[in-house]
Amino acid sequence: MSDFTGKSVMVLGGSRGIGAALVRHFAAAGANVRFSYSGSPDAAAAVAAETGAASVQADSANRDELIAAVAAAGALDIMVINAGVAMMGDPLKLDADAVDRLIDINVRAAYFAGVEAGRQMHDNGRIIIIGSVNGDRVPGAGFTAYALSKSAVQGIGRGLARDFAPRGITVNVVQPGPVDTDMNPAGGPMAPMMHAAMAIKRHATADEVAGLVLYLASPAAAMITGTTQTMDGGLGI
Ligand code: NDP
Repeated sequence: MSDFTGKSVMVLGGSRGIGAALVRHFAAAGANVRFSYSGSPDAAAAVAAETGAASVQADSANRDELIAAVAAAGALDIMVINAGVAMMGDPLKLDADAVDRLIDINVRAAYFAGVEAGRQMHDNGRIIIIGSVNGDRVPGAGFTAYALSKSAVQGIGRGLARDFAPRGITVNVVQPGPVDTDMNPAGGPMAPMMHAAMAIKRHATADEVAGLVLYLASPAAAMITGTTQTMDGGLGI
């Protein structure tokens, strides 16, 4: 495991799931970690107490609140834009306000957080956005709103990779397939459909996703930028 001693790390959405695993892994590797959360103050307090990370309540759907939270972090070495929501269903029936909110959290927040992080970031920093294999592949009906959001972050990643490359900053998108979290439990009703499409027929763990993110955040990954890195058990092949 890489040593992140003294590195300043921010994780958006660190109270639960993949984000909480990222906070744990970066903290265990010596980093100074802060993370945002919105609706889960008790879970955030537990992660902060366990890891020593600082937590800040900031709704990614609120642009001013989000940008202020990122700006307050100062000069970061590593920013992971993880906070996200999923919503599946018939697009003819989905609530339009809920779709707008998903786009606010998954897309607009990724753009504004990435830009704000880059504003003060140290040279040779790292920005990693948690996308999804659904940015590339749509394995069934009902994924349109979520898939559009995860395709959009691919463009943010490629664009910022060009914009920030002169300072040695890399920008990449990690695209998990099914990961066992509150969002998509391994025992949930959609699991059999997902596993049927996979070569390795199980959900990934949040720790497995964190391992890839920490690699991309390490000095060894200095030449990887503008990419999508998929960890989906072969769902998309
Ligand atoms: P969880 O629902 O388990 O956790 C989501 C995290 O994001 C929580 O910490 C939550 O904090 C935070 N969050 C959600 N909305 C907001 C908001 N408006 N403002 C601030 N924080 C917010 O999801 P996962 O860990 O599974 O997902 C993490 C990322 O991984 C997402 O971007 C998701 O799309 C992506 N992903 C997940 C997959 C899966 O199968 N689980 C597959 C592919 C991608 P709080 O509860 O405090 O609001």
